[in-house]
Amino acid sequence: MRYSAFQIVRQALRGHQGWPRAWGEATAKPRYDAIVIGAGGHGLATAYYLGRNHGVRNVAILEKGWLGGGNTGRNTTIIRSNYLQDPSAAIYEKSRSLYETLSQELNYNIMFSPRGVMMLAQTEHEVRGYRRTAHANALQEVQTEFITPERVKELCPIIETRGPRYPVLGALWQARGGTARHDAVAWGYARGCAEMGMDVIQQCEVTGIRSANGKVKGVTTTKGEIDCDKLAIVVAGHSGVLAEMAGFRLPIESLALQALVSEPIKPCMDVVVMANTVHGYMSQSDKGEMVIGGGADGYNNYTQRGSFHHIEETVRALIETFPMISRLKMLRMWGGIVDMTGDRSPIISKTPMENVFINCGWGTGGFKAIPGSGWATAEMVAKGAPGALAAEFGLDRFREGRFIDESVAAGVAH
Ligand SMILES: Cc1cc2nc3c(=O)[nH]c(=O)nc-3n(C[C@H](O)[C@H](O)[C@H](O)COP(=O)(O)OP(=O)(O)OC[C@H]3O[C@@H](n4cnc5c(N)ncnc54)[C@H](O)[C@@H]3O)c2cc1C
Repeated sequence: MRYSAFQIVRQALRGHQGWPRAWGEATAKPRYDAIVIGAGGHGLATAYYLGRNHGVRNVAILEKGWLGGGNTGRNTTIIRSNYLQDPSAAIYEKSRSLYETLSQELNYNIMFSPRGVMMLAQTEHEVRGYRRTAHANALQEVQTEFITPERVKELCPIIETRGPRYPVLGALWQARGGTARHDAVAWGYARGCAEMGMDVIQQCEVTGIRSANGKVKGVTTTKGEIDCDKLAIVVAGHSGVLAEMAGFRLPIESLALQALVSEPIKPCMDVVVMANTVHGYMSQSDKGEMVIGGGADGYNNYTQRGSFHHIEETVRALIETFPMISRLKMLRMWGGIVDMTGDRSPIISKTPMENVFINCGWGTGGFKAIPGSGWATAEMVAKGAPGALAAEFGLDRFREGRFIDESVAAGVAH
């Protein structure tokens, strides 16, 4: 059903009894043209663009928990594309531009809010780094600018620009960056997939990958065996586990990354601010909560909680920049398992097993990439090789030393 104002009125008159389910509960068929493992944003977007752009619709998306229950439903929703290297700027900007019209595309309100994102420069080193990024972005046709401390204060009055340790010396500002509702992104893509006849199968963990003569045959799951011609592994923090099932290793570390929200307060901040030197970032949700995040745990783990000392460090860091939050109460905190590569850039690649493809390594910053990543991964799965958007993100780059170093852009995160 197409959602519209007319439907709202019509369904209201019928006591809201006529709304169909956004996606049904599917049972697995014995065989699919393509299987996507992982119903996070990247997996769902991959399946969606497989159908929409390439006409591949006999597709199942297998999820061990509930859709969007991984990092997609746990992130702080920052969207930006101010990366330094050309391949990154291209895919993140493609993604950001798809976000601009995603609600209309999916006919589902993902609450995209291009309120502007600023990355504070609090050392001379950062000033140089962000000026350089602003110049690179100009060449890449990504609209960013380096702004003065006065403009920072104008855009975000609650910032203390003359902080005791790290005064604000300027910021990299992307006016069309912002946020979106993360669950809605997953739900909107899932609904789009279901409308194309795809099966979104939850509570279905993949426990093995079957092959013959080096070519994928199918997967073993907690709901039985399912055959497929092509397989896309899109499982973020669990990528190493799935790669092992397919018989190859990944240059990935899995770490817990946390976030927290405060009690709701009146609107006081209508931009997203990232303070990478003190290591924290903050925005205000539509409900009024201050959404706060920091760095990842310093050791590998698969917990979805994270350590206590990180919360303390993040809050301490942000109080320097936003003294007015010092008396706020924390409402809740949570964590997700992020998949980090050495160069802090993603992997969108063929794998040693024929017809098995992998999308991972988005680490602390992949929410913003969901539409562009799905677009590029679908192209790779449909055509059997990466297209222009994904070409530089292959696994080969680690063997050949062609790193796409984004450690500055991805420094604190997101
Ligand atoms: C606290 C936090 C804050 C973040 N903040 C931001 C931010 O502000 N901006 C930003 O751009 N990014 C941010 N990120 C990163 C972003 O959330 C991730 O990069 C992105 O969501 C990854 O999406 P995904 O679809 O690849 O993974 P996920 O959403 O994790 O989906 C993978 C799915 O695979 C499933 N799965 C795993 N193993 C199996 C199996 N064997 N069988 C079947 N299914 C399986 C999982 O259950 C999961 O649902 C943040 C992450 C965290 C944790």
